[in-house]
Amino acid sequence: MHPLEYDVVISGTGPTGLMLACELGLAGVRVAVLERLTEAQKAGRSGPLSSRILTVPTVEALDRRGLLPELRKAQQATLQAYGLDDMPDDPPTDAPRMIGHFSLILLRAEQLDTADPDFAGRFPEAECGFIGREEFEAMLATRATELGVTIHYGTELTDLSADPEGVTVTAGTLRIRGQWLVGCDGGRSPIRKLARFPFPGTDPEFTAIQAVAELDTPLPVRAFTDAGTVGCQQMPDGTSLIAVTEFGRLPEDRDSPVTPTELQDALHRVNGTPVRVTALHAASRYTDTTRQAADYRAGHILLAGDAAHVHPPYGGQGLNLGIGDAVNLGWKLAATIQGRAPEGLLDTYTTERHPIGAWVQRWTMAQSVLLRPEPRIRALRHIVTDLLDNVPATTYVVKKVAGVWQAHDLPGTHPLTGRPVPELPLDDGTRLADHFHPGRAVLLNRTGNTLPTSPWSDQLTLVTDHSATGPAALLARPDGVVAWATDGENDPEGLTAALRTWLGPGYIHRPR
Ligand SMILES: Cc1cc2nc3c(=O)[nH]c(=O)nc-3n(C[C@H](O)[C@H](O)[C@H](O)COP(=O)(O)OP(=O)(O)OC[C@H]3O[C@@H](n4cnc5c(N)ncnc54)[C@H](O)[C@@H]3O)c2cc1C
Repeated sequence: MHPLEYDVVISGTGPTGLMLACELGLAGVRVAVLERLTEAQKAGRSGPLSSRILTVPTVEALDRRGLLPELRKAQQATLQAYGLDDMPDDPPTDAPRMIGHFSLILLRAEQLDTADPDFAGRFPEAECGFIGREEFEAMLATRATELGVTIHYGTELTDLSADPEGVTVTAGTLRIRGQWLVGCDGGRSPIRKLARFPFPGTDPEFTAIQAVAELDTPLPVRAFTDAGTVGCQQMPDGTSLIAVTEFGRLPEDRDSPVTPTELQDALHRVNGTPVRVTALHAASRYTDTTRQAADYRAGHILLAGDAAHVHPPYGGQGLNLGIGDAVNLGWKLAATIQGRAPEGLLDTYTTERHPIGAWVQRWTMAQSVLLRPEPRIRALRHIVTDLLDNVPATTYVVKKVAGVWQAHDLPGTHPLTGRPVPELPLDDGTRLADHFHPGRAVLLNRTGNTLPTSPWSDQLTLVTDHSATGPAALLARPDGVVAWATDGENDPEGLTAALRTWLGPGYIHRPR
């Protein structure tokens, strides 16, 4: 049987696989995505346990592709699915407003310095709310399909065979050939295992269960005990949203569903009093396993998202990290397939994304340690709680969690180089972000002169503007990262070097 042929085969329709499919589809690459679950199984997981926080880089990436209206609709659909759509925006309360946490140490909104320069020109915090994972994935799947991507649901990748030109995979009754294969198949990635990517890191010390359940005895809103932590929140429909973290006990079978008995035994051991689970509506578990692939590429196989890095979910970083991987990889892989990539472009995917993944690993590992029930760690936790109770420390943590610190170490001296393009309104009424919708590099020119771009003009969106605020000229890659900028000095050599570094020689464009 001849295999079906694509430029890229992606395994997994999680947020990472679908965002990557959108980026590749936008660039005109032929993509197939394989997903072991059926569409109905995916939709059936919607509910409070699937809620995810979106950070600033993620919302900015969606904005650059014109997806904000769809994002807002998906956020509304999430509120409806959770029965929260008719709640007042700000229910009257005397409790201080919280803006996040570090290892469950709550951070107060009044201690955030919103005037911090790192927030300047970045997307407003109000847009970075939460969203249901299923609603988010449905939004991306619709966009990917519109862009010509083929999605095979209910099709599990079970084997692969790689050679110097590409990879052939077996999935159900299908054999599919891709010039490239990208594993976006989650933390226990079959592709990572089949292709034998080294995955160093640390083993778990705790198991956490999250559940929507009904109980015969109320639980504390939040408690730290000698066995772990327990938290309980009443939902508008009368159910309880429960989180229990138990140290020193690991699941015998990570893949088996959480049972009412498993949940009530964990609650009994951690909280110290018997409790009966009278109904279990949904449940999932995670551990603090922390591992990261040393290289995200092996020949024609790449990893992205949880397949490349796993860590506990503190600070809501995993989905956002996967979106960042996808946005960084998409245009580089497309340029490689279309024969216009400069030497080594694809390898910058690992060099740019690995340090950001490594930061998330350190950040979440530190929070896991502070949850441990030993007296010495509890002493340290008291001190960290005190240290966080002020404006500079709260602002530092929120900036980290919101992702506004993220930048790449790129050649060039302008302070914007390596950072995401700032939010810039232009004199024709558009915003700079609007010009990234086609997925090409953008050259903003406010100098009043012509800039040297001719060999690259078919790869560039040229934006001429006369506003006085911000840089005089700026080159950004298709992923919105500034590659070169000037405040007015004439720098044709710098611009040409940046164009050559990121767009290649500029004349071999062969779109497929
Ligand atoms: C309790 C909890 C709360 C979280 N909260 C947040 C948050 O607020 N913000 C945040 O950013 N992150 C959060 N995360 C993390 C986030 O959910 C993950 O990091 C994110 O889903 C990873 O996306 P992914 O696409 O890389 O992988 P996944 O979402 O795991 O998707 C992988 C896909 O691959 C499919 N697949 C697997 N094997 C195969 C195969 N052999 N063939 C075909 N398909 C296959 C799976 O069915 C799945 O659809 C949280 C995680 C947990 C556990």
